[in-house]
Amino acid sequence: VAGAHGVRRAFGGTVVLDGVDLTIAAGEVVALLGGSGSGKSTLLRILAGLDGEATGEVGTTGTTAVVFQEHRLLPWKRVAANVALGVRGGSLRERLDAALAEVGLADRRDAWPAELSGGQAQRVAFARALVRQPDLLLLDEPFGALDALTRLRMQGLFRRLRAAHGFAALFVTHDVDEALLLADRVLVLDGGRIAEDRAVPLRHPRAVDAPGFGAERRAL
Ligand code: ATP
Ligand code: MG
Repeated sequence: VAGAHGVRRAFGGTVVLDGVDLTIAAGEVVALLGGSGSGKSTLLRILAGLDGEATGEVGTTGTTAVVFQEHRLLPWKRVAANVALGVRGGSLRERLDAALAEVGLADRRDAWPAELSGGQAQRVAFARALVRQPDLLLLDEPFGALDALTRLRMQGLFRRLRAAHGFAALFVTHDVDEALLLADRVLVLDGGRIAEDRAVPLRHPRAVDAPGFGAERRAL
């Protein structure tokens, strides 16, 4: 659902991306790690079509939705209007309600963004992505601003949403545990290139089917 080949991007003579190649298959969740300033957000913005200056080849198929570290909700619109923003088509009300229910906020459709906690606002950001029925989610440290417990809950939510919808995702995170927990494959961006590309072993102790994990999740 997404591919990049020979992607280069420089800012004022400083080369940030120096020939990035990657592919993301349908339904595949890929984590993107890398030091601060390594170009993770730059690459994500390029894949999202938000950067007109990059060179090389980038392609995505189907619908792409983006979730940033900050929820980026419009403060003058209620939750429902934020989720529905720019979405067209029949049965919008039903899709909206379904998306809010899936993120556990069915009862907050008429709330203002300022009335939400950070975790709730990020749930709305996920509902806004889901209502677009994305084939690909681009996530830039979506849980990076959340406290540890909220983050754990959101990781569980992400896994449930993935199981229900089967979207592919590129998931930028600083947290190696999070990458191993959520992704099928981990990329490391370093020196402007993909320096490592590793499948996450199914036997990783925190992988999906590990004994005990279900119990841990139910306890939340
Ligand atoms: P972090 O982990 O801190 O979020 P990152 O890997 O996402 O870092 P980027 O935000 O992609 O890094 O930035 C990569 C480099 O490009 C940095 O050196 C940054 O200063 C530079 N950069 C990014 N956007 C711009 C811009 N609009 N103008 C100038 N330089 C930029
Ligand atoms: Mg970044």
